[in-house]
Amino acid sequence: MADETFDVLIIGGGSGLTAAYHAEADGLDVAVVEPGPLGGTCVNRGCIPTKTLIESAKTMRTIQNAEAFNIHGATKDTTVDFPGIMQRMRSMRKNNVAHSDEWIQDSDAVTLYRDYARFTGERTVELEDAGTTISAETVFITTGARPLIPPIDGLDEVPYLTNRTIINDLNAQPTELVIIGGGYIGLEFAHFFASLGTEVTIFEGNPTVATPEDDDIRQALTEKIQNYATVHLDTFASRVEQTSKGIRVEGGDDGTVEATAGKLLVAAGRRPNTEDMGLETAGIETTERGFIKADDTFQTTVEGVYAYGDVIGRGMFKHASSFEGEIAYKNSQGANETLDYDKNPHAVFTHPPVAGVGLTERDARETGRSIRVETSGYEHVAKGSIVQAKDAFAKAIIDEDTREILGFHVIGPQAPALVHEVVVAMTAGDGTVENITDAIHVHPTLSELVHTLFNRF
Ligand SMILES: Cc1cc2nc3c(=O)[nH]c(=O)nc-3n(C[C@H](O)[C@H](O)[C@H](O)COP(=O)(O)OP(=O)(O)OC[C@H]3O[C@@H](n4cnc5c(N)ncnc54)[C@H](O)[C@@H]3O)c2cc1C
Repeated sequence: MADETFDVLIIGGGSGLTAAYHAEADGLDVAVVEPGPLGGTCVNRGCIPTKTLIESAKTMRTIQNAEAFNIHGATKDTTVDFPGIMQRMRSMRKNNVAHSDEWIQDSDAVTLYRDYARFTGERTVELEDAGTTISAETVFITTGARPLIPPIDGLDEVPYLTNRTIINDLNAQPTELVIIGGGYIGLEFAHFFASLGTEVTIFEGNPTVATPEDDDIRQALTEKIQNYATVHLDTFASRVEQTSKGIRVEGGDDGTVEATAGKLLVAAGRRPNTEDMGLETAGIETTERGFIKADDTFQTTVEGVYAYGDVIGRGMFKHASSFEGEIAYKNSQGANETLDYDKNPHAVFTHPPVAGVGLTERDARETGRSIRVETSGYEHVAKGSIVQAKDAFAKAIIDEDTREILGFHVIGPQAPALVHEVVVAMTAGDGTVENITDAIHVHPTLSELVHTLFNRF
């Protein structure tokens, strides 16, 4: 017999709060177990803090580019208040956490346990500190993910940074920074630090950075980033050591590539928070990489136990986690909905930014459908020339027979905003090209790029 019973138990107070909001609105009794601050990775060490830092980086790059718009001397007296930038980011984060704290405090239906949950039965957990057992009819596991630390020789003997320690602890701007990993987390930090004057070196094991992107996009992004960072491609970091000059990272064949910096950031992927949770006791199965196995309705291998967010390793973005949460909650109450990940957009807030939705050209070709691909540069619309977007472009992939939009990828100013029109066009109605071409677009805007591109089909 459990000490406490609820209608709904949520393990993890990041995107777990999505299910909590819905359950509360339905008048259910909800328990949320979260040892850390509410908001999880996104609010505390992911989306919100990094995008706040990137706003400072964008401002700096606007200043650096002022000459192009005949504004002279802009960089002359420009100084960087690095502690101030970090402080602004931390207060932004604090405000976000405060909203969630207030919501829970004001709610009669939601009880927050500041603790760590471990399964002792199918829908029963024990809290690590309090020792209390909680059971519920419906359980949501939303324990997220954390940095994956690769087994690199010497890494555990040097003080390295992760996204968490940069956001929580870093107060002085590094003069040089080596980043292990050219994925979106490493690249966004590269943009931030390089814009402020840090000398950045990236080690990336693949032939381009941002591997999951469409080939044309990742190639273009790699070239752009090489303008402000040293990028060692096809180079896995293999050894790390502390020297009198800083942390030395070695990689490539026979360790022939090397870089030394005062600071090292490890951004080599994410791993799920699923160990030591008693999942096996409950019969909740995981994949080989430790992600929780969930079916298309987000139910795990145990009835009434759902999982969503980074812990299932599908979307791995906040907007996907929240959307999964809505669907998982509805399904727990009798619905039978699924999420079409081919219509799940993403954005990378690099310089330049990148965004996309749907299939890449290489994946689309593998479907065996009759594919047509078109590309359009920003210079083909007036606003693209006005903002002086160089080498920026958008690319679309459609099914030539049905005219269905299969994918859209863009690199250049406002890419994270531009993708939305295509997401809506893919989601609404028949999802065809005409959903975009039949709509009037404001002139002169970068949105006209999307119109121009789809008019080519
Ligand atoms: C540097 C960085 C930048 C990012 N930027 C973006 C972005 O710009 N846009 C975007 O969409 N996504 C971004 N993401 C991804 C986004 O943060 C995640 O996809 C999202 O936070 C996942 O939410 P979640 O609820 O699944 O996991 P989390 O937010 O990680 O929440 C999991 C929570 O579970 C708690 N927990 C773990 N184990 C237990 C346990 N046993 N008992 C109780 N509680 C437990 C943890 O303390 C944590 O608070 C970024 C991620 C990083 C790292």
